Amino acid sequence: MKMRRHTRQRQVILEELRKAPNHPTAAELFGLVKVQVPRISLGTVYRNLEQLCEDGTIRKVPGTGNETRYDGDLTEHWHLRCRECGHIHDVHGPVSVETAGKTGLRLGWVALEQRLELIGLCPDCQTSGVAAKSEIKQEPYS
Ligand SMILES: [Zn+2]
Ligand SMILES: [Zn+2]
Repeated sequence: MKMRRHTRQRQVILEELRKAPNHPTAAELFGLVKVQVPRISLGTVYRNLEQLCEDGTIRKVPGTGNETRYDGDLTEHWHLRCRECGHIHDVHGPVSVETAGKTGLRLGWVALEQRLELIGLCPDCQTSGVAAKSEIKQEPYS
């Protein structure tokens, strides 16, 4: 295993990420970290986040496009994601892909990644009327 320097900057970045409620982007984290480490640069925050991902200390939220969002919570959970505002809500507890994972294991597969997310509209975006009412009526889970 490679030895990595655990700098204070890294520690602050990790702490802020774990405290943040909404899977922040590097830029959002930069704003939070700067309060404690005023001389830090966005590039440093970004590099540290990439290293933390490589280490497996944190992970990227899959499919967030060019605005990569980071997740400091490695426990098994899945996401509710709002299509309009990008809000990501963690849902802990049993996930239905678990069965898929177990089946894969039984068949000798190695799971590299697990993705389960529900993309929709958060309560705020529904009331602000960003989506057509007709679209909301198509809700299949009610
Ligand atoms: Zn929303
Ligand atoms: Zn999460």
